[in-house]
Amino acid sequence: MMVRIINICSGKGGVGKTTITANLGIALQKYYNKVAIIDFNITTSHLGLYFDMYTCPVTLNNFLRNEAKLEDTIYTHPSGLKIIPASLKISDIVNVDVNNLKNNLKQFFYDYDIVLLDSAPGLGREALIALQACDEVLFVVNPHIPSLIDIEKYKQVISSLQSRPVPTGIIINMFRNKNYELTVEEIRQFLELPVIGVIPEDEKILAGFNKKFLVTASDKKSSASKSFFKIAARIAGVEYNYGFWERLKRAFKKEKFS
Ligand code: ADP
Ligand code: MG
Repeated sequence: MMVRIINICSGKGGVGKTTITANLGIALQKYYNKVAIIDFNITTSHLGLYFDMYTCPVTLNNFLRNEAKLEDTIYTHPSGLKIIPASLKISDIVNVDVNNLKNNLKQFFYDYDIVLLDSAPGLGREALIALQACDEVLFVVNPHIPSLIDIEKYKQVISSLQSRPVPTGIIINMFRNKNYELTVEEIRQFLELPVIGVIPEDEKILAGFNKKFLVTASDKKSSASKSFFKIAARIAGVEYNYGFWERLKRAFKKEKFS
């Protein structure tokens, strides 16, 4: 099996890419042995923050500046997930070119199952390089128009790329199930892509950030956490294993989405 490099991207910032990269990375380990997540947002890096890693001595920036080997920038989360953080220091963005990583990814991670890229938002330089570096693209949106409108541009750029990554689908994040929101079906029709998963807006995700835990690692039973495991199952192409209580609920009341 070849490694699958999946780009987690969005038109708009703040929609939840980094949160999803971190939690999906953990959840995917239920189905795969070797999973890595990489901060591809070098100039405004955040991934390390989600793991309380801002003091880590060697970062991706050191590799990109030829000061360290790529293997020296890999950290292991207690769950086994491999994390490649970028630096949070402004001084560390000088002379850093994420292109140097793009060309090495497939080869370096050849024995991994999945590598997730935490992309920069929009279609700036770093986001374009992430698009060229990946095999598959997952778009993160919120159930509101502003996060949807740039995805069409993204699709056009993807179809013009030589590497032809596959736009696998959409993850709808921060879903509140309110009538002023777009529905899952509206989003699917608007973007003409499959909806891979829906993640509720959940205070646990915010609280977790502040208290330095990730729901998928510390609160597996929460509904937010389950939505990440469902997405992981979908990516792995296996059926999500609903627990007894959920099976019972589903038997009585057909869920709006699964
Ligand atoms: P991006 O990487 O797309 O800029 P982030 O993952 O950093 O977005 O998320 C932006 C903010 O929203 C963070 O404070 C994060 O904790 C919060 N957040 C993300 N997803 C959710 C969610 N499903 N429920 C509640 N808060 C969320
Ligand atoms: Mg981010």
